[in-house]
Amino acid sequence: MLNDCLFCKIAAGDIPATIVAQDDQFVAFRDIDPQAPTHLLVIPREHVASLNAAMDAQMLGSMLLFAKTVAGGEGLSERGYRVVVNTNAEAGQSVFHLHAHVLGGRAMRWPPG
Ligand code: AMP
Repeated sequence: MLNDCLFCKIAAGDIPATIVAQDDQFVAFRDIDPQAPTHLLVIPREHVASLNAAMDAQMLGSMLLFAKTVAGGEGLSERGYRVVVNTNAEAGQSVFHLHAHVLGGRAMRWPPG
């Protein structure tokens, strides 16, 4: 755990969040500023700053499976959803603890903004 990391604190339960699923490796919670009717964040409990810093293929694969499971839990499997990992400045990453956005509940445009 990184002391000044917001998402480490959420994973540890030190900062409140609306948690929808968790296991020993990951936590999924509702984004505080939702960009779609469903907007969840999936984070590893382990601190990894970004996708650039992620080297553990097992963790990354399991994180994607976890995202799929929580999307299903939100009723999005059939109608569709988007999983986004913003990485560094031009992608708009603002919290430097790896996270996957799970967005759904409305039609998504392409290309993304
Ligand atoms: P990104 O911009 O890709 O780094 O995503 C960070 C996300 O974290 C943004 O969508 C924020 O709205 C969200 N966020 C920031 N603080 C909190 C918080 N305390 N609880 C839930 N989501 C948060």
